[in-house]
Amino acid sequence: MRKIGLAVILLLPSLCLMANAQRLPDNAAPDGYRITLAPNFEKDNFTGDETIQIRVLKPTANLVLNALDIEFQEATISAGGRTQTAKVSVDSVKQMATLSLAKPLAAGPATVHIRYTGILNDQLRGFYLSKANGRKYAVTQFEATDARRAFPSFDEPAYKATFDVTALVDKGDTAISNGKIISDTPGPIAGKHTIQFATTPRMSSYLVALAVGDFEYVEGSADGVPIRVWATPGKKAMAHYALEVAEQCMKYFNNYFGIKYPFEKLDLIGLPDFAAGAMENTAAITFRDALLLVNEKHAPNFAYKEIGAVISHEMAHQWFGDLVTMQWWDDIWLNEGFATWMESKPLEAWKPEWHMELDDVLDSGNTLNTDSLQNTRPIHQAADSPDQIEELFDGIAYGKAAAVLRMLEAYLGPEDFRAGVNAYLRAHAYGNATESDFWSALAAASRKPVDKLMTSFVNQPGEPLVSVRSQCVDGRTKVTLSQKRYYYDRSLLDSSSAQQWIIPVCLSAGSGAAKCELLKDKEQNLDIAGCRPWVFANAGASGYYRAGYETSAFRAMSRNAEKDFSPAERIVLVRDAWAAVRAGQQPIGDFLELAEELQTDRNSSVVQQLNRELDYIGEYLVSDANRPQYQAWVRGLLQPVLKDVGWLPASNEDTNRKDLRAHVIYTLGYTARDPEVLAKA
Ligand SMILES: [Zn+2]
Repeated sequence: MRKIGLAVILLLPSLCLMANAQRLPDNAAPDGYRITLAPNFEKDNFTGDETIQIRVLKPTANLVLNALDIEFQEATISAGGRTQTAKVSVDSVKQMATLSLAKPLAAGPATVHIRYTGILNDQLRGFYLSKANGRKYAVTQFEATDARRAFPSFDEPAYKATFDVTALVDKGDTAISNGKIISDTPGPIAGKHTIQFATTPRMSSYLVALAVGDFEYVEGSADGVPIRVWATPGKKAMAHYALEVAEQCMKYFNNYFGIKYPFEKLDLIGLPDFAAGAMENTAAITFRDALLLVNEKHAPNFAYKEIGAVISHEMAHQWFGDLVTMQWWDDIWLNEGFATWMESKPLEAWKPEWHMELDDVLDSGNTLNTDSLQNTRPIHQAADSPDQIEELFDGIAYGKAAAVLRMLEAYLGPEDFRAGVNAYLRAHAYGNATESDFWSALAAASRKPVDKLMTSFVNQPGEPLVSVRSQCVDGRTKVTLSQKRYYYDRSLLDSSSAQQWIIPVCLSAGSGAAKCELLKDKEQNLDIAGCRPWVFANAGASGYYRAGYETSAFRAMSRNAEKDFSPAERIVLVRDAWAAVRAGQQPIGDFLELAEELQTDRNSSVVQQLNRELDYIGEYLVSDANRPQYQAWVRGLLQPVLKDVGWLPASNEDTNRKDLRAHVIYTLGYTARDPEVLAKA
C-alpha cells in the first residue's frame, strides 16, 4: 500500500494484553475460494455466494472465519459425503463468525458453502461505494483486515489460497479483478451480465480486488504481459503516462528480480474515491486517480515523479509482498520498506536526469528527523488487533525501513543484495516468509552478518550519532569513532548511553577510496594513511545515522565542500551540521558559514536541503530584533542563484534548473521576504 502524504504517526508501543485474542484458531486452512458477488446500486448492498475448499487440520465442530457486517443467509459444510447446515454465531468485536455443526468434522478436506449479503459502505474499505460522473462504482480495498467485509474468510496473510471470482454486473458496466476475464455471458436476469475471472495463483485475502463500473482503458504490454490503465469515463486521455511507466517498470523488475512477472496480466485502476494512495492487489492495482492519471498539458515535473514512484512502488509489491508475503503483519515494514526502497530504481534507470537517488537521500533525512524524537518507535512492533495493525502503516514502516535497506544494500554491494533478494523470492514464491528468512537469504548471498546488523536497527527505536575524532600521529590519521543515540533534545542526547548499533560506516578523507568498517563497539579506533585535515563519516551518503565532527574538521570540510563531496554527500553534510546545531553540539555560525561556502552550489537537491534549514532558522530561531539582518543575509545568499536561473524557464531547460528556481523563489519569498519575489508572486 502507498500512503498519501504519509503522516508520521508516533505511538508508544502498544501493550500486548490482547495477544492472540484476534487470531483465527489453527484447526482449518483454505485451499480455494469460489466467490460470486452481485453489487446492487439501488440498495447499496451486495449478495455473495461463496464456496471455500478447506482442509480441516484438527477434528472440530466449530469452524471460525473472519466476517464483519455480513448477514448470513445460509451456511453448510460438506465432508465425507455428508452435508450439514451450520448454526452461525457472529462476534462483531472479534470480527469473526463461528459455524457450528451438530457432528464434528474429521481432519481432511471439507467444503464450506455460504450465501450472504453485505453492505456497499461509504467507509472506503471492504467492498465500498465510490462516486464519479453522477453515478456509483463498487470497488474494494482490503488491506489490512477488510476482506472480511466482502466475504467470510481466513483473513490473515498466511492463509494463502486460490480465488475464483465472478461478478454479476449491470449491462453497460464492466468488472476488473485479479484474474483475467475468462467468460462474459448475459444474465442470469434481464439487464445483467456475468463476468467470470480466471483462477488466481495462491495469494493472501488482503490482495483480492474487484472494481465494478463503466471504466475505460488504454492498453499496452511489456515482455508479453498485457497492461491496461483504467479510469472513469472522460479521463482515459490522462492514462498514457501511467501506461508508459508500467511498461518501463515491468521490464526493469523482470530483470531485477530474475523471476518473470508471476501473473497473467496487469491492470492499473484509477478510482475517484480511495483512502490510501494506491494498493498493490495482485495484478489489479488500485490508485487514487490523482496518483495515476496526469494531464500532460499542465502537470508540473514533480507530479510525473510522484506518479512514477507510486506505480513503481505498487509494481515492486507484485513480487515483494504479493508473490512472497509476510507471515504476519508485524513484518509489514519489510513489505513497505522494500517497495519504498525499490520504487526509485526503475525511474533512475529510465529518467536519470530526475536524480531519484538524491530524492532518496532527502527522504532519509526526513526520516532521521522523525526518528530524532523521543517517542519514535522501533521498526518492528508486535500487532494483533485490526487497530494495532493499522497503526503499523506509518513513516517508520515506510521511510525508516527503506533508508535502512538502502544502507544495507550499500554495505553488501548491489549485486550481492540483489542475489539475496532473488534467492528469497525463489525460496518463498506463492508462500509466506519472515524478516529472518530475508536476512538469511542476504547473509547467504553476501557472507556478511546481516541479521545482527539489521536487528540492531529494526528492533531498537531511534538512530545512532557517530562521532568522529582524529589526530595525526607519525604520518597517519588516527580516527576514533564512537556511537550513541541521537536526540534533538540536548539533555536526552547528553544522557543517552545504553543503546548500541552495528553500523556500516564508510569514511572518506579527501582522496583515495572510501574505507568502510562495521562500528560494533561503543568506541572503535582505526587509521588512514597520511595526515588528513578531516575524515567524513558517511561516504556515499547511504548510512542511516548522523555524524558529528570536531569543530576544526567541520570547518575544513566546509571550505571545499562543493569540490570534495558528491551532491548526495553534500546533502548529508548539511543535514548533519544542522543536527549538530539543533542539539547544541556546534555553534550556528559554523552552519551559516557552510551555507556561504555552498553559495555557488547549483545542485537543486543540495539547495533544497540547505533551504529547509534556512527556513527553519528563520521561522523558529531568529529573534524579531535580528530578523531584518537574517533576511538580508539570506537574500544575499540566494539572489545570485535566482539571477543565474532567471525568472522564466528557458526552452527545454533541465529538471535541476526548474527545481532550483522553485526552491530559491520559495525561500527568498517565505524566509527572506525578498521584495522582488513578493511583488511577482
Ligand atoms: Zn506499499
